[in-house]
Amino acid sequence: MRQPERDILDCLVIGGGPAGLTAALYLARFRRRFLVVDAGEPRAAWIPASHNIPFFAEGIPGPEILERARAHLARYGAHLLHGRVAALRREAGGFAAEVEEGGATRRLRARHALLATGAVDVEPDLPDLPDLPDAVRRGLVRYCPICDGYESRGRRIAVIGHGARGAGEASFIARTYSDDVTLLTLGRGMDDLDPALRRRLEAEGVRIVEQPVAALEVQGGRIAALRTGGGEELRFDVLYSALGLTYHTELARALGAAHDPSGALLVDEHAQTTVKGLYAAGDVVRAIDQIVVGMGHAAIAATHIHNRCGLPTQEEPEA
Ligand SMILES: Cc1cc2nc3c(=O)[nH]c(=O)nc-3n(C[C@H](O)[C@H](O)[C@H](O)COP(=O)(O)OP(=O)(O)OC[C@H]3O[C@@H](n4cnc5c(N)ncnc54)[C@H](O)[C@@H]3O)c2cc1C
Repeated sequence: MRQPERDILDCLVIGGGPAGLTAALYLARFRRRFLVVDAGEPRAAWIPASHNIPFFAEGIPGPEILERARAHLARYGAHLLHGRVAALRREAGGFAAEVEEGGATRRLRARHALLATGAVDVEPDLPDLPDLPDAVRRGLVRYCPICDGYESRGRRIAVIGHGARGAGEASFIARTYSDDVTLLTLGRGMDDLDPALRRRLEAEGVRIVEQPVAALEVQGGRIAALRTGGGEELRFDVLYSALGLTYHTELARALGAAHDPSGALLVDEHAQTTVKGLYAAGDVVRAIDQIVVGMGHAAIAATHIHNRCGLPTQEEPEA
């Protein structure tokens, strides 16, 4: 039997959010040589409490999801390396990575790489709200109606957004959760909105406010009122921001991996990108940005990686 080279990992998992940690769990149980490198800024840590993760009917905060996943992985003796993968390049038989860790740069080699680097939300520019991360953790500003729209049903809902994305999110909320929805474009014009989408918003009763927001009033743990530049006062129970995501796909793009116009990576049925041996899971992939979806990608990718590790080296990614 061919002996594996000891200094080459079977897989380098880049990112230790829900997707990366799930991939690691599968790889650990397949008894693979792998390492998780995590820069420690998961989007999952922003979740005040999630009610759409199966098995947690009472809801579970994002930080607890992460803690539980890390503790689960630790049972298999796997540990996370706190660092950032700064570069990833192809080499014969796999990939070479440069990892920045505590001021030093470390080099790692791996036959496969799994990118689970996530994304960040584009932040709304709101007056009187200097600490936006705190506002998100307190639920004053929300990012994801698929995640927590159910908890806002029947309430007065404002959506910050513009263009097709903002209109689409306002429409989703109006047809699913509330008949009192206002789209706040923060001063962006909506004249170029597709007429069919505009008609849909009208039919769903979505009001569009194109004035910029001049002031906010925070009361009792929520944004109670917004004042527009024109002096109008608007009152809502819940505020969503729908300005989109920036995907952490630089490493994959540098290798030439295909992505959609928004930057999210395209993968095949094995969660493999268009670069052979480079897999992707979670928010970096074009799909709905949900924990269970990312965990699904991760399970599929890890299993395919495991199965490919049994193949001769010439089947592995070429240099
Ligand atoms: C406020 C809020 C509420 C949400 N509520 C829910 C909910 O109720 N249910 C739900 O399913 N989803 C929810 N989501 C979405 C959910 O957080 C994401 O879908 C999920 O975190 C994606 O997991 P991930 O592992 O792909 O990425 P992340 O959780 O973002 O983790 C990615 C990790 O990769 C690291 N990383 C990035 N680049 C590098 C690099 N070069 N080297 C090393 N590490 C790197 C990052 O620092 C980070 O730690 C919510 C999101 C927000 C913002």
